[in-house]
Amino acid sequence: MVPRPANDPGGCCVGHDGRVTSRATTVTETPAVARLPGGPLAYTLRRSPRSRGIRVVIHPERGVVVTIPAPGRRGRIDPERHIAPFLAQREAWIRRHVAKQAREQAEIEARGGLRDGAAIRFRGDLHRLRIVRAPAGARRSRVERIGGVDEDEIVVRVASADRRSVGALLEGWFKPRARAAIEREIRHHADALNVSPAAISIRDQRTRWGSASRERRLAFSWRLVLAPPDALETVVVHELAHLRVFGHGPRFWALVASRKPDHKVWRAWLREHSLELHGALAERRPTDRRDQDEIASI
Ligand SMILES: [Zn+2]
Repeated sequence: MVPRPANDPGGCCVGHDGRVTSRATTVTETPAVARLPGGPLAYTLRRSPRSRGIRVVIHPERGVVVTIPAPGRRGRIDPERHIAPFLAQREAWIRRHVAKQAREQAEIEARGGLRDGAAIRFRGDLHRLRIVRAPAGARRSRVERIGGVDEDEIVVRVASADRRSVGALLEGWFKPRARAAIEREIRHHADALNVSPAAISIRDQRTRWGSASRERRLAFSWRLVLAPPDALETVVVHELAHLRVFGHGPRFWALVASRKPDHKVWRAWLREHSLELHGALAERRPTDRRDQDEIASI
């Protein structure tokens, strides 16, 4: 197989530590198969000039991706010889995640994406998605939640003049609800933790549910509003606790547990449903192809 260049912006970038580093531009990807004790395992071999060792991630769409340094001045030893033993050591973990992803993928596809009648989560509960035409003459599309006797619905009334996709309409409806729910939890916990965030932003971060900076800026994924309220609360408590303690040492976890004793349950819930929530508004496939989203890395 001929290696093909992958999307890589190349050029110059500022590293996490603030240093400006220049880097080579060529990333190549080749399909490969490793012979492991449990049988052959297909993967994508990615050679990256930025890589400093062997790394394996389970990509939501591309499956197993192994990244190794690109051959060059530094590549005195051939890293490929180390790949099979590296994967063999982690085989159980890899197969478990690949199988889980296949199950989740099948479940998402069975739900039917953003079709009328599909199921979509809001505050943890599955809602029936209804996509209907807005009354003639309606200028703007509208989204509303209707509580039902045995089933709740989210109804999208699409105005013919509105060019936005159903996904964009839903995101526009979810985001302010995410902000309101997150701000409510901040009000509930910030004083008790004796912290005050400088700014709160609601984003669509792919790899993290939330983050806290040393400048006391908090950022959260709007997709937390799809998860159960306890899961959203857990992430808010986690990020607020970082304003007191950076890092994830015992002091940090004790602080989190002081405000959210069952936080582990909800972290596990988010891990378990990450792919589902990140694919929630995809028109067909659960994730953006360009996104190197790490479900898990070693
Ligand atoms: Zn953290």
